[in-house]
Amino acid sequence: MPALVDTFGRVHRDLRISVTDRCNFRCGYCMPEEGMDWLPRSELLTFEEIERVAALLVGRFGVDSIRLTGGEPTVRAHLPVLIGKLAALGVDLALTTNGAGLAGCAHDLRAAGLGRINISLDTLRADRFEELTRRDDLHRVVAGIDAAVAAGLHPVKVNTVVMRDVNDDELVDLARFGRERGVVVRFIEFMPLDAQGAWERDRVVAQREIVERIHEVFPLAPVDRGHDPAGRFRYLDGGGEIGVIPSVTEPFCGACDRIRLTSEGRLRNCLFAVEETDLRAVLRGGGSDDDLARAVESCVAAKWEGHAIGRVRFVRPERSMSQIGG
Ligand code: SAM
Ligand code: SF4
Repeated sequence: MPALVDTFGRVHRDLRISVTDRCNFRCGYCMPEEGMDWLPRSELLTFEEIERVAALLVGRFGVDSIRLTGGEPTVRAHLPVLIGKLAALGVDLALTTNGAGLAGCAHDLRAAGLGRINISLDTLRADRFEELTRRDDLHRVVAGIDAAVAAGLHPVKVNTVVMRDVNDDELVDLARFGRERGVVVRFIEFMPLDAQGAWERDRVVAQREIVERIHEVFPLAPVDRGHDPAGRFRYLDGGGEIGVIPSVTEPFCGACDRIRLTSEGRLRNCLFAVEETDLRAVLRGGGSDDDLARAVESCVAAKWEGHAIGRVRFVRPERSMSQIGG
């Protein structure tokens, strides 16, 4: 089977699909304070269009892992229908969500064929949660995490974006939360994809510091990360593990196997890409599967070596994280 290989020899097997640009939160590191103008529904790929792209990538290029994201994927109507279609492709199927609506749908998502889930949670303090997300929904997110565990969406992972002087005083509390619930907390270095453009290098808390601060209270040892971009560390007392995603201080671009499809059908070969390939134009222009495959191959072939955050040649993408999907 041909594979999606770029000029640096990286094989791409992981597809991230944003199913909507809409979100019920407005996290400061992701979306502008005043919110965004949502795309009209007609601009979003339909479930049939998403299924066609996914089936082509799986069947023709050996993509074996699909993650649904957003915006907030659970606000897209009839999401279990899409999950059912994608689960039928036989891939490792995962979802990233803010968790606020999960208590009401975790079982349906599982029943439709969802395998795994990541839930974003940056603080355990209600006032800080409201400040960060502009919603008073901490209790809902915690209930969503519990519902995901109860539904058997194993392993449940919690994504925490760590920002200096914002929530880095909660590293140990969040680690404890994960240990108590048997979920893996993955600490993510803050990336320059916030819509406000407020990212600064000294807001980034490096992997090394994150691990050291948790290790002081709950001793940790590194685990072989395999193909996982997250550094993995297990608690020496057997209390589970944490992950750290060092996108800024130790970029994993050299092993990156991801491509991303935006909700309006643009294919991106990197989180930080400044160019996109319009697959919707091919889909709606009557293009054949060969036309689609050629568009995908040339997008992947053009992938750069790495993102260059912090260097002079780094160009900040125009899209915010909420429009790319993470
Ligand atoms: N709404 C869903 C959610 O919040 O999980 C899915 C979309 S969200 C864009 C995907 C992930 O990106 C979340 O875990 C979020 O915390 C993360 N994220 C958003 N902006 C980020 C930034 N500037 N740096 C690092 N991670 C970010
Ligand atoms: Fe919405 Fe997720 Fe971005 Fe927060 S991180 S604004 S929940 S898309």
